[in-house]
Amino acid sequence: CFCQLHGKIDDCSCNVDTVDHFNNVKIYPRLRSLLHKGYFRFYKVNLRRPCPFWSDDSRCAMRYCHVEACEDKDIPVGLKGGLENHSSKNLYVTQSCEDDHNAELGYLNTTISAKVQEDIVLWSAYDDAQDNFCVLEDNDSESEYVDLLLNPERYTGYRGKSAHRIWNSIYMENCFRSTKNDNPYIQSSKLNNMCLEERVFYRAISGLHASINIHLCAQFLLSETSLSEPDGKWGPNLSEFLRRFSKETTRGEGPHWLRNLYFVYLLELRALNKAMRYLEKEEFYTGNESEDWDTQLAVKDLLSVVQKFPNHFNETTMFTGSEQAEKLKYEFKQHFRNVSKIMDCVGCDKCRLWGKLQVQGLGTALKILFSGKFDDQLDLSSDRKKFQLQRSEIVSLVNSIGRLSTSIYELDEFRQMLR
Ligand code: FAD
Repeated sequence: CFCQLHGKIDDCSCNVDTVDHFNNVKIYPRLRSLLHKGYFRFYKVNLRRPCPFWSDDSRCAMRYCHVEACEDKDIPVGLKGGLENHSSKNLYVTQSCEDDHNAELGYLNTTISAKVQEDIVLWSAYDDAQDNFCVLEDNDSESEYVDLLLNPERYTGYRGKSAHRIWNSIYMENCFRSTKNDNPYIQSSKLNNMCLEERVFYRAISGLHASINIHLCAQFLLSETSLSEPDGKWGPNLSEFLRRFSKETTRGEGPHWLRNLYFVYLLELRALNKAMRYLEKEEFYTGNESEDWDTQLAVKDLLSVVQKFPNHFNETTMFTGSEQAEKLKYEFKQHFRNVSKIMDCVGCDKCRLWGKLQVQGLGTALKILFSGKFDDQLDLSSDRKKFQLQRSEIVSLVNSIGRLSTSIYELDEFRQMLR
């Protein structure tokens, strides 16, 4: 079967079968239960930002594109009023960080003017922003909380010119070294002519694309709303899956796209592993003490399993060796930021929501891997100001790994259907 993949995952050192077993038996069930916790199910997002690249952002009128924002009463008390960014509820980042900050400013007060202090604060925020691969929206006044469990990613009917323009533009961003060519879609056989960094960019996007398309096949609208099923009937659509991924219908590319799903999964898992010491200290504060405690335990359990799986993606071979490396890294980041901005052009709110979340999750993974701030064994007492992750970055990272993990699981279900 074309979707029964074997052998090494490209640009990684482990086999597809190993990942299948590890994911389906160990990671998937843990993430499934973790993502039901309050900390991870509420995501703050601005779905009304105008598209910065073109004016025609025709919005999908289909009811399945609709996203229901949370009412105030449904949002956990600890997430309201900006508390989620408040360090006082975060063992490691917030409380101690803030205390130090104040002490430092108190000292500075006596020596320098208020204007200079303000500049210092702005510059440190500016420095942090330089590490980001995405534009963060946490403090955007138009952002609203969305309950991800009530707005699941599934088939919406979004397709045609608008969807293609988005994918085209995203793949165009891959041409960050060479001059742009007209066809952004890359033949897998040509990948070896590209440098590692370009291949990684392409594989990550292609893996994300494959994951989104697997979800819409696995959660397809099988029949419209009826009295007995007021929400419609949803489930796997094998022929849709075959159309999108079989060799015959994709000029042989489908299996390569599926392999890229495994690639981006390993890349994000590697980031999770790298941020382990940081995440182990996180309080996952929502205001519900017992649930927050459960969440901490569940995260630690997940991290301990991830740690036992050694052959993740190896980021240390990237952006090294030549004088051009820093420039390449800068360009890589700029082009990924463009991908995150393109999400504001997606013409279906549900797709936009999940697109933004997954691109932010991937951006957070890249930040962890390449900012250098997670490279050493951290001394949490003295290094605490070196890095920070916003709540939305943690939520998007874990949810996007959850999406990739679900895709690998769903892929296995399609395999069984084909058998
Ligand atoms: P598309 O998926 O639009 O692909 C366009 C072209 O890209 C293909 O012709 C092929 O040449 C190439 N291609 C396809 N897959 C890959 C790959 N993995 N790697 C490399 N190249 C590839 N629809 C929903 O129903 N639900 C959703 O939640 C949803 N979310 C979306 C989120 C985003 C950000 C975007 C841009 C689209 C989303 N869509 C969603 C739409 C969906 O992804 C498809 O665009 C749509 O179903 C039309 O599919 P298509 O067969 O025309 O090919």
